[in-house]
Formats: sequence, C-alpha cells, structure tokens
Amino acid sequence: LIQLSIPLNYLGMVYREVKQALSNIQRMYDLLDEAQEVADSPGAPALAVRGAELRFEHVDFHYDPARAILRDVDFSIPAGKTVAVVGTTGAGKSTLARLLYRFYDVSAGRILIDGQDIRSVTQDSLRAAIGIVPQDTVLFNDSIYYNIAYGKPSASREEVIAAARSAHIHDFIESLPQGYDSAVGERGLKLSGGEKQRVAIARTLLKNPALLVFDEATSALDTRTEKIIQAELEDIARERTTLVIAHRLSTIVDADEIIVLDQGCIVERGHHAALLAAGGRYAALWAMQQREAVPVAA
Ligand code: ATP
Repeated sequence: LIQLSIPLNYLGMVYREVKQALSNIQRMYDLLDEAQEVADSPGAPALAVRGAELRFEHVDFHYDPARAILRDVDFSIPAGKTVAVVGTTGAGKSTLARLLYRFYDVSAGRILIDGQDIRSVTQDSLRAAIGIVPQDTVLFNDSIYYNIAYGKPSASREEVIAAARSAHIHDFIESLPQGYDSAVGERGLKLSGGEKQRVAIARTLLKNPALLVFDEATSALDTRTEKIIQAELEDIARERTTLVIAHRLSTIVDADEIIVLDQGCIVERGHHAALLAAGGRYAALWAMQQREAVPVAA
C-alpha cells in the first residue's frame, strides 16, 4: 500500500503541476491571441530608443470597418513628459494603449516612437520599450516572487526585492508566512486591488521601460491606497514618457497635457487649470466626479 501511495501522490503532484502550467499557458494565449493580428515586416530593425518621444499622427482605427473607434487622433508626448487621456466609457482610451503595444495596427495615420513608425520595427523591441500597468493585473498561479520577476526573467533576487521595495510591497510580502514563496493567483492568496497594482508596478520597475502606460483601474481603490499608488506612479513616471489612461481626474491634475476623447475624437486638450476655466467637456466631467466624491449629507 505504501509503495503504491507514493507514485499516486507523485502523480497527483505532477497532475497539479501540469494543470497549473496549462492554465498559465492558456492565460498567455489569451493575452497573445490579440497579438497574432500583426506581424513583423521582413528584415525589420529593432526600435532605437533615444528619449522615447511618442507621437500619434492622425490615427484612425476601427475593430470592425462598420464602426470607427478613433478618428484623426493626433498628439505627441515629448520625451519624459506625461499626457493623460480622459473621456467617458467607450471613448477609445484603452484602444490607444492596445495600438501602441501593437495588439492591433492603426487603420490610418501612424504611431511613432522617436520618429520610427512602430510598424517598421520588431514587435519584441517595441514591447521591450513599453511598460504597461494595466487596469487588472493578471497574476499567475505561482509564487509572488515569480509574479514580480516576470517583468524581467533574468533578474537577480536582489533586483526583484529592490523592485518590490520601490513599489512598497516588500514589507507586505515579508509579513506573509512564506514570504516571497507565497502562492498567489486564483489558487493562492487573493491580493487586493491595491496589492495587485503594486505587483504590476514592481514588474514594470524591473522591466525599466522608457515608455510607460498606466491604465488606471476603473474600480475605485480606497482614497488612502489611491494616494499612495499615485505617489509611486509619479515616482516611476519621472524621466519616462508616460501615457495615463485616466478614470479619476484627481490623479492627473499635474499632467503636462490632458486630452479629452469623445467617441474617438479629441474634443479638448490642455492643462487642468485651463480646461477647468474653459468650462467645456472636461469641466463638466470634473464637476461630475467632484459631486460623486462628496458624501451625501445626512
Ligand atoms: P473604458 O473607460 O470603459 O475603459 P475606453 O475609453 O477605454 O473605455 P475602449 O476600451 O478603448 O474604451 O473601447 C472603445 C470602443 O471599442 C468601445 O465601444 C468598445 O466596445 C469597442 N471595443 C473594444 N475592444 C473591442 C474589440 N476587441 N472588438 C470590437 N470592439 C471593441
């Protein structure tokens, strides 16, 4: 009986590992599925990043030809600056990030990084230059260490810990009984929205990209966590060209430029104060969010 139970235990372990691996692979395919829509042009060179100036040049885009999603979207982010995109749900904000990462190609116009059309360079080099902190971070069913190191598989343990420290998640990890070896994901520890976002920030710090895209979570974090994460992002956005897809306007008042997107068109642009003073679409969005933020008096 003992002899039999060992291989059975072993098989059980193998089964769990294989299942886990398959579910991770499935996740990867889910993520990569969209990527298959575009291909490298033959002999494409690697992207040569200098300051990482980003330019959307008269970009049109549709997923389905019957429905335009972006129309003549034209803006630049000078090297190291921050531009925030705001607009009502479905305006096309996240689509900008998908196009930049080349999950899809533009229908018309161009996207340029330091003057190079992103369609003319290898996808590997393009994606290596861009760090995305997504709305919802995918956590693999693996250790928290693996989940951070994923940003740079060749990273040393010291680098992983340094990234976790900078993302202010190191102390939390150390407080777990199994520390960095703690299992996370669906079958492990469930992390809160703020903790997951910190894992994403740590991953991104490890990757050290020239260009940063922050797709702000729609689901509100509590005010304190949001403030802390905001400060962390300001830290990592410094010196990097940053595109913020904003859902809460309070987080972008300091952006170098704010772009207001409505049904795929830029309808307003400028600094926070100027846009408020203009009393247009942005001012209306701001007033709406201020009202939502104020608790109803009893
Ligand atoms: P939110 O603030 O709700 O995140 P958003 O401004 O980021 O919205 P997008 O995600 O860019 O909006 O979507 C813009 C439009 O494109 C939406 O109407 C959406 O339904 C549509 N869309 C998004 N992804 C696809 C897709 N893969 N295929 C077809 N249509 C899509």
